[in-house]
Amino acid sequence: MTNCIFCKIINKQIPCFKIYENKYVLSFLDINPILKGHILVIPKKHFTNVLDTDDFYLSEVIKVVKLISNNIKQKLNCDGINILNASGKAAEQSVMHLHFHILPRYDNDKLNTFPKTKYIKKDLTEIQKILKID
Ligand code: 5GP
Ligand code: ZN
Repeated sequence: MTNCIFCKIINKQIPCFKIYENKYVLSFLDINPILKGHILVIPKKHFTNVLDTDDFYLSEVIKVVKLISNNIKQKLNCDGINILNASGKAAEQSVMHLHFHILPRYDNDKLNTFPKTKYIKKDLTEIQKILKID
């Protein structure tokens, strides 16, 4: 896609700090890291987000997410990993090319990736009825 910043990275029109690449997937440092070792994993074909990515590419991307996560864990000796994805503007997606963020986490690093909201669960049966896939 011509106007996509990640497609431009794939096509080497703009540079990146590459971490790993194979035939279908590219992984590189986030230009604006939340913390040291913040890595992005993207398919080499343009998809908007999880909702429209074909299953083949999605599974290739997830395999690399696992590879990168284990690599981070081993080399940065972190205590945990967050794998984050935003699908859609409302979910705070800013680059409209599928990507997963991988973040090394440390005990007591105080990063808040799962904010506690004030939503009070009332009727789980009701939402289960709506969402259940038979
Ligand atoms: P989103 O907000 O869509 O989940 O994440 C997009 C991410 O892409 C952001 O963390 C942002 O820092 C990163 N990003 C945006 N433009 C570039 C770029 O040109 N190069 C790299 N390496 N990362 C970028
Ligand atoms: Zn793209």
